Amino acid sequence: SVAETGLYTASDQVILLSQENIESVLINSSAAVLVEFYASWCGHCIAFSPVYKGLASDIKEWKPAVNLAAVDCAAEENRKVCNGFGIRSYPTIKFFHAYSKADSTGQAFKASTHDVRVLRHRIIDQLESHEEPWPPACPPLEPTSQAEIDSFFETNSVQHLALIFEDTKSYIGREVTLDLLQYENVAVRRVLSTEEGLVTKLGVTEFPSCYLYSPQGNLTRLKVNIEARTFYSYALQRLPGVVRSGKPLPVTLDVLNNSTEEPWRPFNRSRVYMADLESTLHYSLRVEVAAHTLIKGEALTSLKKYISVLAKYFPGRPVVMSLLKSVNSLLKNQTGDEISYDALREILDNSAQSPDTALPEGERWVGCQGSRPHLRRYPCGMWTLFHTLTVQAKNAGGTDPQEVLSAMRNYVHSFFGCRACAEHFEIMATESLVEVNTLSSAVLWLWSRHNRVNNRLAGDLSEDPNFPKIQWPPPEMCPACHTVKENGEHKWSKEQVLPFLLSHFSSSSILTDYLE
Ligand code: FAD
Repeated sequence: SVAETGLYTASDQVILLSQENIESVLINSSAAVLVEFYASWCGHCIAFSPVYKGLASDIKEWKPAVNLAAVDCAAEENRKVCNGFGIRSYPTIKFFHAYSKADSTGQAFKASTHDVRVLRHRIIDQLESHEEPWPPACPPLEPTSQAEIDSFFETNSVQHLALIFEDTKSYIGREVTLDLLQYENVAVRRVLSTEEGLVTKLGVTEFPSCYLYSPQGNLTRLKVNIEARTFYSYALQRLPGVVRSGKPLPVTLDVLNNSTEEPWRPFNRSRVYMADLESTLHYSLRVEVAAHTLIKGEALTSLKKYISVLAKYFPGRPVVMSLLKSVNSLLKNQTGDEISYDALREILDNSAQSPDTALPEGERWVGCQGSRPHLRRYPCGMWTLFHTLTVQAKNAGGTDPQEVLSAMRNYVHSFFGCRACAEHFEIMATESLVEVNTLSSAVLWLWSRHNRVNNRLAGDLSEDPNFPKIQWPPPEMCPACHTVKENGEHKWSKEQVLPFLLSHFSSSSILTDYLE
Protein backbone atom coordinates (compact mmCIF):
# COMPACT_ATOMS: atom_id res chain seq x y z
CA SER A 1 0.00 0.00 0.00
CA VAL A 2 0.98 3.65 -0.33
CA ALA A 3 1.47 3.87 3.41
CA GLU A 4 4.26 1.34 3.25
CA THR A 5 5.99 2.38 0.06
CA GLY A 6 5.84 6.14 0.52
CA LEU A 7 8.20 8.24 2.62
CA TYR A 8 5.77 8.62 5.52
CA THR A 9 3.82 6.30 7.76
CA ALA A 10 0.76 6.77 9.89
CA SER A 11 2.91 7.26 12.99
CA ASP A 12 4.65 10.37 11.62
CA GLN A 13 1.85 12.80 12.60
CA VAL A 14 1.39 13.45 8.86
CA ILE A 15 -1.93 12.73 7.13
CA LEU A 16 -1.31 10.36 4.21
CA LEU A 17 -3.32 11.64 1.27
CA SER A 18 -4.65 9.61 -1.62
CA GLN A 19 -7.28 9.85 -4.31
CA GLU A 20 -9.85 8.61 -1.79
CA ASN A 21 -9.35 11.04 1.06
CA ILE A 22 -7.78 14.15 -0.45
CA GLU A 23 -11.05 15.99 -0.96
CA SER A 24 -12.39 15.26 2.47
CA VAL A 25 -9.12 16.40 4.05
CA LEU A 26 -8.59 19.59 2.03
CA ILE A 27 -11.99 20.93 1.12
CA ASN A 28 -13.94 22.86 3.70
CA SER A 29 -11.66 21.74 6.50
CA SER A 30 -11.88 23.75 9.71
CA ALA A 31 -8.08 23.64 9.95
CA ALA A 32 -5.57 24.91 7.43
CA VAL A 33 -3.56 22.13 5.77
CA LEU A 34 0.02 22.12 4.56
CA VAL A 35 0.49 19.49 1.85
CA GLU A 36 3.73 18.08 0.56
CA PHE A 37 3.45 16.66 -2.95
CA TYR A 38 6.43 14.37 -3.34
CA ALA A 39 7.71 11.45 -5.36
CA SER A 40 9.14 8.60 -3.33
CA TRP A 41 12.00 8.15 -5.84
CA CYS A 42 13.14 11.77 -5.72
CA GLY A 43 16.38 12.34 -3.83
CA HIS A 44 15.40 15.81 -2.65
CA CYS A 45 12.17 14.42 -1.27
CA ILE A 46 14.00 11.67 0.56
CA ALA A 47 16.38 14.23 2.02
CA PHE A 48 13.50 16.52 2.98
CA SER A 49 11.33 13.82 4.59
CA PRO A 50 13.09 13.79 7.99
CA VAL A 51 12.69 17.58 8.08
CA TYR A 52 8.99 17.32 7.34
CA LYS A 53 8.60 14.61 9.99
CA GLY A 54 10.49 16.81 12.43
CA LEU A 55 8.20 19.72 11.62
CA ALA A 56 5.13 17.51 12.08
CA SER A 57 6.26 16.38 15.47
CA ASP A 58 7.33 19.90 16.45
CA ILE A 59 3.91 21.39 15.75
CA LYS A 60 1.70 18.43 16.53
CA GLU A 61 -0.08 20.49 19.19
CA TRP A 62 -1.21 22.91 16.47
CA LYS A 63 -3.30 20.32 14.64
CA PRO A 64 -6.74 21.79 15.27
CA ALA A 65 -5.51 24.97 13.53
CA VAL A 66 -3.09 23.58 10.98
CA ASN A 67 -2.49 20.03 9.85
CA LEU A 68 0.38 18.51 7.89
CA ALA A 69 -0.28 16.10 5.02
CA ALA A 70 1.67 14.42 2.25
CA VAL A 71 0.87 12.67 -0.98
CA ASP A 72 3.16 10.36 -2.96
CA CYS A 73 2.81 11.44 -6.58
CA ALA A 74 4.93 8.50 -7.70
CA ALA A 75 2.17 6.11 -6.72
CA GLU A 76 0.10 5.21 -9.77
CA GLU A 77 -3.18 5.75 -7.96
CA ASN A 78 -2.22 9.34 -7.02
CA ARG A 79 -1.15 10.55 -10.49
CA LYS A 80 -4.52 12.09 -11.26
CA VAL A 81 -4.63 13.95 -7.96
CA CYS A 82 -1.15 15.41 -8.44
CA ASN A 83 -1.87 16.40 -12.06
CA GLY A 84 -5.07 18.05 -10.88
CA PHE A 85 -3.07 20.30 -8.58
CA GLY A 86 -0.64 21.10 -11.40
CA ILE A 87 2.35 19.53 -9.68
CA ARG A 88 5.40 19.40 -11.98
CA SER A 89 8.32 19.13 -9.61
CA TYR A 90 8.97 17.48 -6.29
CA PRO A 91 8.73 18.26 -3.54
CA THR A 92 6.11 20.97 -3.94
CA ILE A 93 4.49 22.28 -0.81
CA LYS A 94 1.18 24.07 -0.76
CA PHE A 95 -0.79 25.74 1.95
CA PHE A 96 -4.56 25.34 1.96
CA HIS A 97 -6.48 27.86 4.03
CA ALA A 98 -9.22 26.64 6.32
CA TYR A 99 -12.51 26.22 4.44
CA SER A 100 -10.77 25.93 1.09
CA LYS A 101 -13.19 25.53 -1.83
CA ALA A 102 -13.28 22.51 -4.11
CA ASP A 103 -11.48 24.41 -6.90
CA SER A 104 -8.65 25.63 -4.66
CA THR A 105 -5.15 24.63 -5.67
CA GLY A 106 -3.58 26.07 -2.54
CA GLN A 107 -1.00 28.79 -2.03
CA ALA A 108 2.65 28.39 -2.82
CA PHE A 109 4.74 27.58 0.25
CA LYS A 110 8.46 28.14 0.12
CA ALA A 111 10.14 24.98 1.38
CA SER A 112 13.65 25.92 0.30
CA THR A 113 15.13 25.14 3.70
CA HIS A 114 15.78 22.21 6.00
CA ASP A 115 15.39 24.43 9.04
CA VAL A 116 12.27 23.36 10.96
CA ARG A 117 12.23 26.69 12.76
CA VAL A 118 12.02 28.68 9.54
CA LEU A 119 9.27 26.42 8.19
CA ARG A 120 7.33 26.85 11.42
CA HIS A 121 7.59 30.62 11.12
CA ARG A 122 6.38 30.47 7.53
CA ILE A 123 3.36 28.48 8.65
CA ILE A 124 2.53 31.22 11.15
CA ASP A 125 2.89 33.83 8.39
CA GLN A 126 0.50 31.85 6.23
CA LEU A 127 -1.95 31.37 9.07
CA GLU A 128 -1.94 35.12 9.63
CA SER A 129 -2.64 35.70 5.94
CA HIS A 130 -6.05 34.06 6.38
CA GLU A 131 -8.88 36.29 5.40
CA GLU A 132 -12.24 35.27 6.77
CA PRO A 133 -13.03 32.62 7.75
CA TRP A 134 -10.23 32.22 10.28
CA PRO A 135 -9.75 28.58 11.45
CA PRO A 136 -12.11 28.51 14.44
CA ALA A 137 -9.74 26.52 16.67
CA CYS A 138 -6.95 29.05 16.20
CA PRO A 139 -6.65 31.66 18.95
CA PRO A 140 -5.89 35.24 17.94
CA LEU A 141 -2.25 35.65 17.01
CA GLU A 142 -2.04 39.43 16.81
CA PRO A 143 -0.49 41.38 19.69
CA THR A 144 -2.75 42.23 22.57
CA SER A 145 -3.54 45.68 23.92
CA GLN A 146 -4.22 47.31 27.26
CA ALA A 147 -7.94 47.32 26.45
CA GLU A 148 -8.05 43.57 25.76
CA ILE A 149 -6.17 42.77 28.94
CA ASP A 150 -8.33 45.03 31.07
CA SER A 151 -11.52 43.22 30.12
CA PHE A 152 -9.95 39.82 29.53
CA PHE A 153 -11.40 37.94 32.48
CA GLU A 154 -14.85 39.47 31.90
CA THR A 155 -15.10 37.86 28.48
CA ASN A 156 -12.98 34.70 28.92
CA SER A 157 -13.58 32.01 31.49
CA VAL A 158 -10.02 30.81 31.91
CA GLN A 159 -7.94 30.64 35.04
CA HIS A 160 -4.66 31.89 33.62
CA LEU A 161 -3.69 34.55 31.13
CA ALA A 162 -0.05 34.29 30.07
CA LEU A 163 1.49 37.38 28.52
CA ILE A 164 4.59 36.96 26.43
CA PHE A 165 6.53 40.17 26.07
CA GLU A 166 8.66 40.15 22.96
CA ASP A 167 10.11 42.07 20.07
CA THR A 168 8.02 42.59 16.95
CA LYS A 169 10.09 40.12 14.94
CA SER A 170 9.87 37.33 17.53
CA TYR A 171 7.57 34.36 16.89
CA ILE A 172 7.72 32.96 20.43
CA GLY A 173 4.40 34.42 21.58
CA ARG A 174 2.55 32.99 18.62
CA GLU A 175 4.31 29.62 18.87
CA VAL A 176 3.46 29.28 22.53
CA THR A 177 -0.13 30.35 21.82
CA LEU A 178 -0.40 27.50 19.33
CA ASP A 179 1.43 25.06 21.60
CA LEU A 180 -1.28 25.68 24.20
CA LEU A 181 -4.12 25.38 21.71
CA GLN A 182 -5.25 22.00 23.01
CA TYR A 183 -5.05 22.97 26.66
CA GLU A 184 -7.92 24.34 28.67
CA ASN A 185 -7.95 26.98 31.36
CA VAL A 186 -5.08 28.98 29.94
CA ALA A 187 -4.84 31.66 27.28
CA VAL A 188 -1.71 33.19 25.81
CA ARG A 189 -1.26 36.63 24.27
CA ARG A 190 1.80 38.41 22.98
CA VAL A 191 2.69 41.93 24.02
CA LEU A 192 5.11 43.82 21.83
CA SER A 193 8.06 45.58 23.39
CA THR A 194 6.91 48.64 21.43
CA GLU A 195 3.61 48.67 23.32
CA GLU A 196 5.14 51.24 25.68
CA GLY A 197 2.08 51.94 27.80
CA LEU A 198 1.73 48.34 28.91
CA VAL A 199 5.42 47.60 29.12
CA THR A 200 6.20 50.60 31.34
CA LYS A 201 3.07 50.27 33.43
CA LEU A 202 3.84 46.64 34.15
CA GLY A 203 7.55 47.29 34.57
CA VAL A 204 8.71 44.69 32.07
CA THR A 205 12.32 45.06 31.03
CA GLU A 206 13.30 41.73 29.51
CA PHE A 207 12.29 40.49 26.06
CA PRO A 208 11.25 37.76 25.67
CA SER A 209 9.74 37.16 29.09
CA CYS A 210 6.52 35.56 30.22
CA TYR A 211 4.18 36.78 32.95
CA LEU A 212 0.98 35.40 34.39
CA TYR A 213 -1.75 37.96 34.72
CA SER A 214 -4.32 37.24 37.40
CA PRO A 215 -7.96 38.31 37.38
CA GLN A 216 -7.07 40.64 40.26
CA GLY A 217 -4.56 42.41 38.05
CA ASN A 218 -1.40 40.96 39.57
CA LEU A 219 1.52 40.13 37.37
CA THR A 220 3.92 37.29 38.24
CA ARG A 221 6.90 36.23 36.23
CA LEU A 222 6.74 32.65 34.91
CA LYS A 223 9.76 30.81 36.26
CA VAL A 224 11.76 29.02 33.57
CA ASN A 225 15.37 28.00 33.23
CA ILE A 226 15.71 29.59 29.82
CA GLU A 227 13.53 32.25 28.18
CA ALA A 228 12.54 30.22 25.12
CA ARG A 229 9.50 28.67 23.48
CA THR A 230 9.79 25.07 24.77
CA PHE A 231 10.34 26.22 28.33
CA TYR A 232 7.33 28.55 28.29
CA SER A 233 5.08 25.94 26.70
CA TYR A 234 6.16 23.20 29.09
CA ALA A 235 5.64 25.38 32.17
CA LEU A 236 2.26 26.73 31.03
CA GLN A 237 0.94 23.26 30.14
CA ARG A 238 1.59 22.26 33.72
CA LEU A 239 0.04 25.19 35.59
CA PRO A 240 -2.50 24.15 38.22
CA GLY A 241 -5.90 23.63 36.63
CA VAL A 242 -4.55 23.43 33.10
CA VAL A 243 -5.52 20.23 31.28
CA ARG A 244 -5.38 18.92 27.79
CA SER A 245 -8.81 19.29 26.16
CA GLY A 246 -10.97 16.22 26.43
CA LYS A 247 -8.87 14.78 29.23
CA PRO A 248 -10.20 14.54 32.76
CA LEU A 249 -8.54 16.73 35.34
CA PRO A 250 -5.67 14.98 37.07
CA VAL A 251 -7.20 13.50 40.16
CA THR A 252 -5.98 13.76 43.69
CA LEU A 253 -4.77 10.97 45.92
CA ASP A 254 -8.05 10.27 47.70
CA VAL A 255 -9.86 9.97 44.37
CA LEU A 256 -7.14 7.62 43.13
CA ASN A 257 -7.57 5.51 46.23
CA ASN A 258 -11.20 4.98 45.34
CA SER A 259 -10.77 4.41 41.63
CA THR A 260 -8.06 1.74 41.63
CA GLU A 261 -8.66 -1.67 43.17
CA GLU A 262 -5.54 -1.58 45.28
CA PRO A 263 -4.66 1.12 47.74
CA TRP A 264 -2.55 3.84 46.15
CA ARG A 265 1.11 3.68 47.11
CA PRO A 266 2.55 7.15 47.48
CA PHE A 267 5.88 7.46 45.70
CA ASN A 268 8.52 9.86 44.51
CA ARG A 269 8.14 10.51 40.79
CA SER A 270 11.80 11.16 40.31
CA ARG A 271 12.96 7.77 41.60
CA VAL A 272 13.15 4.18 40.39
CA TYR A 273 11.55 1.43 42.52
CA MET A 274 12.67 -2.18 42.80
CA ALA A 275 9.00 -3.16 43.26
CA ASP A 276 8.36 -2.07 39.65
CA LEU A 277 11.35 -4.01 38.36
CA GLU A 278 10.34 -7.19 40.19
CA SER A 279 6.72 -6.82 39.09
CA THR A 280 7.97 -6.51 35.53
CA LEU A 281 10.01 -9.70 35.86
CA HIS A 282 7.01 -11.48 37.35
CA TYR A 283 4.71 -10.38 34.55
CA SER A 284 7.24 -11.00 31.84
CA LEU A 285 8.34 -14.47 33.00
CA ARG A 286 5.11 -15.81 34.51
CA VAL A 287 2.55 -14.27 32.18
CA GLU A 288 4.02 -13.11 28.90
CA VAL A 289 6.50 -15.92 28.27
CA ALA A 290 3.95 -18.40 29.67
CA ALA A 291 1.77 -17.70 26.66
CA HIS A 292 4.25 -19.86 24.70
CA THR A 293 3.82 -23.47 25.83
CA LEU A 294 6.72 -24.59 23.67
CA ILE A 295 9.58 -22.18 23.16
CA LYS A 296 11.76 -22.85 20.14
CA GLY A 297 13.64 -21.28 17.25
CA GLU A 298 13.88 -17.51 17.31
CA ALA A 299 11.85 -17.27 20.52
CA LEU A 300 14.26 -19.61 22.30
CA THR A 301 17.24 -17.53 21.21
CA SER A 302 15.44 -14.38 22.42
CA LEU A 303 14.65 -15.93 25.78
CA LYS A 304 18.23 -17.09 26.26
CA LYS A 305 19.64 -13.65 25.51
CA TYR A 306 17.09 -11.97 27.75
CA ILE A 307 17.74 -14.21 30.73
CA SER A 308 21.48 -14.01 30.22
CA VAL A 309 21.37 -10.21 30.32
CA LEU A 310 19.13 -10.31 33.41
CA ALA A 311 21.43 -12.75 35.19
CA LYS A 312 24.37 -10.48 34.42
CA TYR A 313 23.01 -7.02 35.02
CA PHE A 314 19.73 -7.06 36.94
CA PRO A 315 20.52 -5.15 40.15
CA GLY A 316 18.28 -7.41 42.21
CA ARG A 317 18.06 -8.78 45.71
CA PRO A 318 20.13 -11.93 46.34
CA VAL A 319 17.09 -14.26 46.17
CA VAL A 320 16.07 -12.85 42.81
CA MET A 321 19.61 -12.97 41.43
CA SER A 322 19.96 -16.54 42.51
CA LEU A 323 16.72 -17.38 40.71
CA LEU A 324 17.82 -15.61 37.52
CA LYS A 325 21.12 -17.48 37.63
CA SER A 326 19.35 -20.84 37.95
CA VAL A 327 17.12 -20.05 35.00
CA ASN A 328 20.15 -18.91 33.06
CA SER A 329 22.03 -22.15 33.69
CA LEU A 330 18.97 -24.19 32.78
CA LEU A 331 18.81 -22.41 29.44
CA LYS A 332 22.57 -22.50 28.87
CA ASN A 333 22.75 -26.23 29.49
CA GLN A 334 19.74 -26.92 27.43
CA THR A 335 20.80 -28.44 24.12
CA GLY A 336 17.58 -29.51 22.39
CA ASP A 337 15.98 -27.11 19.95
CA GLU A 338 12.98 -26.46 22.15
CA ILE A 339 11.99 -26.10 25.76
CA SER A 340 8.56 -26.33 27.34
CA TYR A 341 7.33 -23.46 29.45
CA ASP A 342 6.59 -26.00 32.21
CA ALA A 343 10.31 -26.67 32.65
CA LEU A 344 10.82 -22.97 33.17
CA ARG A 345 7.84 -22.65 35.49
CA GLU A 346 9.25 -25.35 37.71
CA ILE A 347 12.33 -23.27 38.49
CA LEU A 348 10.39 -20.03 38.78
CA ASP A 349 8.07 -21.55 41.35
CA ASN A 350 10.51 -23.70 43.26
CA SER A 351 10.78 -21.38 46.25
CA ALA A 352 9.17 -24.05 48.49
CA GLN A 353 12.29 -26.18 48.06
CA SER A 354 14.88 -23.43 48.17
CA PRO A 355 13.66 -20.28 49.88
CA ASP A 356 16.85 -18.40 49.01
CA THR A 357 15.97 -18.62 45.31
CA ALA A 358 12.75 -16.83 44.41
CA LEU A 359 10.95 -14.42 42.20
CA PRO A 360 8.22 -12.74 44.25
CA GLU A 361 4.73 -13.54 42.95
CA GLY A 362 2.31 -10.93 41.76
CA GLU A 363 2.36 -7.34 40.66
CA ARG A 364 3.04 -4.52 43.04
CA TRP A 365 3.41 -1.36 40.99
CA VAL A 366 4.77 1.76 42.64
CA GLY A 367 6.40 4.27 40.28
CA CYS A 368 4.45 2.59 37.48
CA GLN A 369 1.04 2.80 39.14
CA GLY A 370 -1.67 4.14 36.87
CA SER A 371 -4.68 6.16 37.87
CA ARG A 372 -6.79 3.48 36.16
CA PRO A 373 -6.11 -0.26 36.18
CA HIS A 374 -5.49 -0.31 32.42
CA LEU A 375 -2.94 2.50 32.43
CA ARG A 376 0.86 2.32 32.81
CA ARG A 377 2.07 -0.72 34.82
CA TYR A 378 3.75 -3.39 32.68
CA PRO A 379 4.90 -1.33 29.67
CA CYS A 380 6.14 1.32 32.09
CA GLY A 381 8.00 -1.41 33.96
CA MET A 382 9.46 -2.74 30.72
CA TRP A 383 11.00 0.62 29.84
CA THR A 384 12.28 1.05 33.37
CA LEU A 385 13.81 -2.43 33.33
CA PHE A 386 15.70 -1.88 30.10
CA HIS A 387 16.92 1.59 31.00
CA THR A 388 18.22 0.07 34.22
CA LEU A 389 19.93 -2.76 32.36
CA THR A 390 21.69 -0.48 29.87
CA VAL A 391 22.95 1.60 32.80
CA GLN A 392 24.05 -1.47 34.78
CA ALA A 393 25.92 -2.81 31.73
CA LYS A 394 27.75 0.51 31.49
CA ASN A 395 28.52 0.61 35.21
CA ALA A 396 29.61 -3.02 35.27
CA GLY A 397 31.93 -2.45 32.30
CA GLY A 398 30.17 -4.82 29.90
CA THR A 399 32.11 -5.67 26.76
CA ASP A 400 29.47 -5.67 24.02
CA PRO A 401 27.82 -2.22 23.60
CA GLN A 402 24.75 -3.74 21.92
CA GLU A 403 24.31 -6.70 24.26
CA VAL A 404 21.39 -5.30 26.31
CA LEU A 405 19.63 -3.49 23.47
CA SER A 406 19.84 -6.48 21.22
CA ALA A 407 18.39 -8.70 23.98
CA MET A 408 15.61 -6.15 24.45
CA ARG A 409 14.95 -6.01 20.73
CA ASN A 410 14.68 -9.79 20.53
CA TYR A 411 12.51 -10.07 23.61
CA VAL A 412 10.14 -7.38 22.39
CA HIS A 413 10.02 -9.00 18.96
CA SER A 414 9.35 -12.53 20.25
CA PHE A 415 7.27 -11.95 23.36
CA PHE A 416 6.08 -8.39 24.05
CA GLY A 417 2.28 -8.61 24.06
CA CYS A 418 1.76 -5.17 22.54
CA ARG A 419 2.31 -6.04 18.89
CA ALA A 420 2.06 -2.47 17.58
CA CYS A 421 4.74 -1.49 20.12
CA ALA A 422 6.92 -4.34 18.93
CA GLU A 423 6.58 -3.27 15.30
CA HIS A 424 7.43 0.34 16.06
CA PHE A 425 10.36 -0.67 18.19
CA GLU A 426 11.68 -2.97 15.49
CA ILE A 427 11.55 -0.10 12.98
CA MET A 428 13.62 2.10 15.28
CA ALA A 429 16.08 -0.71 15.95
CA THR A 430 16.53 -1.48 12.24
CA GLU A 431 17.06 2.22 11.55
CA SER A 432 19.83 2.97 13.98
CA LEU A 433 20.82 0.26 16.43
CA VAL A 434 24.00 -0.31 14.39
CA GLU A 435 25.16 3.17 15.37
CA VAL A 436 25.44 2.10 19.00
CA ASN A 437 29.15 1.47 19.50
CA THR A 438 29.81 2.27 23.15
CA LEU A 439 28.05 1.37 26.40
CA SER A 440 27.25 5.06 26.89
CA SER A 441 25.70 5.40 23.47
CA ALA A 442 23.49 2.39 24.29
CA VAL A 443 22.13 4.26 27.33
CA LEU A 444 21.53 7.38 25.25
CA TRP A 445 20.02 5.45 22.35
CA LEU A 446 17.31 3.94 24.53
CA TRP A 447 16.65 7.29 26.19
CA SER A 448 16.20 9.09 22.89
CA ARG A 449 14.05 6.34 21.33
CA HIS A 450 11.84 6.30 24.41
CA ASN A 451 11.40 10.05 24.01
CA ARG A 452 10.40 9.50 20.39
CA VAL A 453 7.73 7.09 21.55
CA ASN A 454 6.61 9.61 24.19
CA ASN A 455 6.38 12.24 21.51
CA ARG A 456 4.26 10.03 19.32
CA LEU A 457 1.94 9.05 22.15
CA ALA A 458 1.48 12.47 23.78
CA GLY A 459 -2.24 13.14 24.03
CA ASP A 460 -3.11 9.58 22.98
CA LEU A 461 -5.90 7.61 24.66
CA SER A 462 -3.33 5.45 26.43
CA GLU A 463 -1.93 8.50 28.20
CA ASP A 464 -2.58 8.63 31.91
CA PRO A 465 -3.82 12.16 32.69
CA ASN A 466 -1.76 12.08 35.87
CA PHE A 467 1.38 11.08 33.97
CA PRO A 468 1.44 13.01 30.72
CA LYS A 469 3.90 11.86 28.07
CA ILE A 470 6.66 14.40 28.16
CA GLN A 471 10.14 14.73 26.79
CA TRP A 472 12.00 13.24 29.70
CA PRO A 473 13.70 14.15 32.05
CA PRO A 474 11.68 17.37 32.53
CA PRO A 475 13.50 20.59 33.44
CA GLU A 476 12.59 20.29 37.12
CA MET A 477 14.25 16.86 37.31
CA CYS A 478 17.39 17.78 35.41
CA PRO A 479 17.72 21.51 34.77
CA ALA A 480 21.19 21.14 33.26
CA CYS A 481 19.92 18.64 30.67
CA HIS A 482 18.03 21.40 28.88
CA THR A 483 19.59 24.12 26.86
CA VAL A 484 18.98 26.08 23.67
CA LYS A 485 20.83 26.54 20.43
CA GLU A 486 21.89 29.99 19.32
CA ASN A 487 18.58 30.44 17.51
CA GLY A 488 16.55 29.66 20.62
CA GLU A 489 15.55 26.12 19.61
CA HIS A 490 15.53 23.58 22.41
CA LYS A 491 18.54 21.32 22.61
CA TRP A 492 19.39 18.46 24.93
CA SER A 493 22.72 18.76 26.59
CA LYS A 494 23.85 15.16 26.13
CA GLU A 495 26.93 15.71 28.29
CA GLN A 496 24.46 16.32 31.12
CA VAL A 497 21.82 13.73 30.14
CA LEU A 498 24.27 10.84 30.28
CA PRO A 499 25.45 11.35 33.88
CA PHE A 500 21.84 12.03 34.86
CA LEU A 501 20.71 8.67 33.43
CA LEU A 502 23.68 6.83 34.90
CA SER A 503 22.80 8.10 38.32
CA HIS A 504 18.99 7.88 38.01
CA PHE A 505 19.04 4.19 37.03
CA SER A 506 22.09 3.16 39.06
CA SER A 507 21.61 0.29 41.49
CA SER A 508 22.42 2.51 44.46
CA SER A 509 19.54 4.92 43.63
CA ILE A 510 16.86 2.24 43.32
CA LEU A 511 14.40 2.43 46.20
CA THR A 512 13.27 -0.75 47.92
CA ASP A 513 10.03 0.56 49.44
CA TYR A 514 6.96 -1.69 49.28
CA LEU A 515 8.94 -4.89 48.77
CA GLU A 516 7.68 -7.86 50.75
P1 FAD B 1 6.46 5.19 30.03
O1 FAD B 1 6.67 5.77 28.68
O2 FAD B 1 6.15 3.75 30.09
O3 FAD B 1 7.75 5.51 30.89
C1 FAD B 1 7.97 4.89 32.16
C2 FAD B 1 8.81 5.77 33.00
O4 FAD B 1 10.10 5.89 32.42
C3 FAD B 1 8.32 7.20 33.09
O5 FAD B 1 7.40 7.33 34.12
C4 FAD B 1 9.59 7.98 33.35
O6 FAD B 1 9.91 7.93 34.72
C5 FAD B 1 10.63 7.21 32.60
N1 FAD B 1 10.90 7.75 31.27
C6 FAD B 1 10.07 8.39 30.42
N2 FAD B 1 10.71 8.73 29.31
C7 FAD B 1 11.97 8.29 29.43
C8 FAD B 1 13.11 8.35 28.61
N3 FAD B 1 13.09 8.95 27.42
N4 FAD B 1 14.26 7.79 29.07
C9 FAD B 1 14.32 7.20 30.28
N5 FAD B 1 13.27 7.12 31.10
C10 FAD B 1 12.10 7.66 30.68
N6 FAD B 1 2.51 2.30 23.37
C11 FAD B 1 1.81 2.63 22.27
O7 FAD B 1 0.65 3.03 22.39
N7 FAD B 1 2.37 2.56 21.02
C12 FAD B 1 3.65 2.13 20.85
O8 FAD B 1 4.13 2.05 19.72
C13 FAD B 1 4.40 1.74 21.98
N8 FAD B 1 5.65 1.25 21.85
C14 FAD B 1 6.30 0.76 22.95
C15 FAD B 1 7.56 0.15 22.81
C16 FAD B 1 8.20 -0.41 23.90
C17 FAD B 1 9.53 -1.09 23.70
C18 FAD B 1 7.61 -0.32 25.19
C19 FAD B 1 8.30 -0.93 26.38
C20 FAD B 1 6.38 0.30 25.34
C21 FAD B 1 5.72 0.83 24.25
N9 FAD B 1 4.46 1.44 24.36
C22 FAD B 1 3.78 1.84 23.25
C23 FAD B 1 3.89 1.72 25.69
C24 FAD B 1 4.17 3.17 26.08
O9 FAD B 1 5.47 3.58 25.64
C25 FAD B 1 4.16 3.38 27.59
O10 FAD B 1 5.03 2.46 28.19
C26 FAD B 1 2.81 3.22 28.22
O11 FAD B 1 1.87 4.05 27.56
C27 FAD B 1 2.85 3.63 29.72
O12 FAD B 1 3.28 4.98 29.81
P2 FAD B 1 3.84 5.65 31.11
O13 FAD B 1 3.13 6.92 31.32
O14 FAD B 1 3.82 4.71 32.23
O15 FAD B 1 5.36 6.05 30.75
